[in-house]
Parts: sequence; C-alpha cells; structure tokens
Amino acid sequence: MILSSFDLTGKVALITGCNTGLGQGIAVGLAEAGCDIVGVNRSDPHETMAKVTQTGRRFLNLNADLGKIDAIPALVQTAVDTFGKIDILVNNAGIIRREDALNFSEKDWDDVMDVNIKTLFFMAQAVAKQLICQGSGGKIINIASMLSFQGGIRVPSYTASKSAVMGITRLLANEWAQHHINVNAIAPGYMVTNNTQQLRTDEERNQQILERIPAARWGTPEDMMGPIVFLASPASNYVNGYTLAVDGGWLAR
Ligand code: NAP
Repeated sequence: MILSSFDLTGKVALITGCNTGLGQGIAVGLAEAGCDIVGVNRSDPHETMAKVTQTGRRFLNLNADLGKIDAIPALVQTAVDTFGKIDILVNNAGIIRREDALNFSEKDWDDVMDVNIKTLFFMAQAVAKQLICQGSGGKIINIASMLSFQGGIRVPSYTASKSAVMGITRLLANEWAQHHINVNAIAPGYMVTNNTQQLRTDEERNQQILERIPAARWGTPEDMMGPIVFLASPASNYVNGYTLAVDGGWLAR
C-alpha cells in the first residue's frame, strides 16, 4: 500500500546541525517516521535528543566542527559502529554572513563556503562510500535555499554556496543513481530560525518579506517534516537530482 512506502522504521539517518532550527524539525520528523538519528553537532543538542527519544527512537550525538572536513571519516565510522549502518544523510548545517559585496572579507567567504558546500560534498562522499559498501542504496538530502535560485543581496558567499548546493545535488544524483542512491535537495523559503533572526527583527524587512510570501507567513521547522520524509523514503525512489522548494509559494511569485 502506498502509505507504507513512507515508513522509515529501522532506518538510520545522519543529520548535520540538528540541535536547533530546521535540523531539529528534520530530526524529529525522521524519528516520527521510524528512524534512529545520528546528530552531528558543535552545540549540545539536548532539546532535539529529548524530542527524538520521546518518539521511542535512539539518538546518538557526535560532536564536530563542520568548518573542517578532517572529522568526517571518524563520524561515519562511529555512526556505523553504533547503529550498524547508515541509510539516510541530511546535509543541513549551514551559516550565513551579511555584508555589502564591496566590503565582503575573505574570511566571510571561506567560512561560509567551507561549511555550506565543501563539508556538504565530502560528507556526501563519505556516506555514499558506506552506502555502496552496504549495497542497499540510500538517500542523501542537501539543504539548499531560495538563493540557489535567486541572487539575494549582501550575502555573496551564501548565494555562491547555495547555488553550488543545487548544482552538486544534480551531479551526485547522476553519478550515484546506478547505486540506488537518490540525491535531492530541499530549498526552504523564509523560515523562523536563528539564521533569519536579523531579518525578522528588522520590522520593515520583516513586513516586506511577509507581503511577498503567498502563504502570508514565515515557514517553521515543522514545515520541513513532510518533504524530508518523502525524500528519505521509498516513496521518492524515482526522484533524482531535484531541488524541492518548501517556501509558501515564494518562488512562484
Ligand atoms: P540555524 O538555526 O542557524 O541552524 C544551523 C545549524 O547548522 C545549527 O545546528 C548550527 O550549529 C549548525 N552549524 C553551523 N556551522 C556549523 C559548524 N561549523 N559545525 C557544526 N555545526 C554547524 O539555521 P537554520 O535556518 O535551521 O539552517 C539550517 C539550514 O537551512 C542551513 O543550511 C541554512 O542555510 C538553510 N536555510 C535556512 C533558511 C531559513 O530561512 N532559516 C532558508 C533557506 C535555507 P550551532 O547552533 O552550533 O550554530
């Protein structure tokens, strides 16, 4: 029956940056669908751990700074040693820096590119090697942005990195479909998290954004749950290399 193809009972999902925000919504959504969760965090994810374990699923926290890629092999190995396998990777961790392009620093360029695209790629590579070893396919979901589609303003490294996320999602999907690994992305619109706190506290900017969203509200971490479960489950087995907007209609305007 179709609804059983959304069931993730017994799957193991590794999620980066799930102590807060969209990553927390993603972790709870996948746990409610049946996954044990491996969280990779630099901050203590006690709230997420409580929410996941309340669903009856296990939560393993691995501490890492994803601004560097050296920790990745050990993260994957520890996840496999603990839960026996990985089925799903969600590359969610991301940062943003705001400054005029004319004044943008090399540090703000490198810091954002390192987390948002370099680590995302090498994490996908490490998990794909494990999935290929396991021989039963898997799902990789990258978190993109409206700025995978649009230029934005005052966020040059963020736009560059998120445009790259959409491109690399397509490339990896092409290379790994033969291994039954689906690589897709979700592009959230304007969502209520730490990432957008600055925008939301600017009353004028907040109003301009709200007026442009057809759904007339900011998105929430809970809005990620249905789309992530779909892309993590057999229900999306013939969806490859696609970036799904979860944006209350922002891109449709
Ligand atoms: P958030 O609340 O700031 O969460 C970002 C997550 O990434 C946090 O868990 C953060 O950890 C983690 N992270 C950042 N740098 C890290 C590093 N060097 N090492 C380990 N973890 C690191 O923002 P969010 O909105 O939920 O963002 C989640 C994803 O959605 C990001 O990729 C973001 O670009 C994307 N996105 C968000 C929106 C939006 O409107 N909110 C829209 C489009 C796309 P800490 O808590 O320790 O900083």
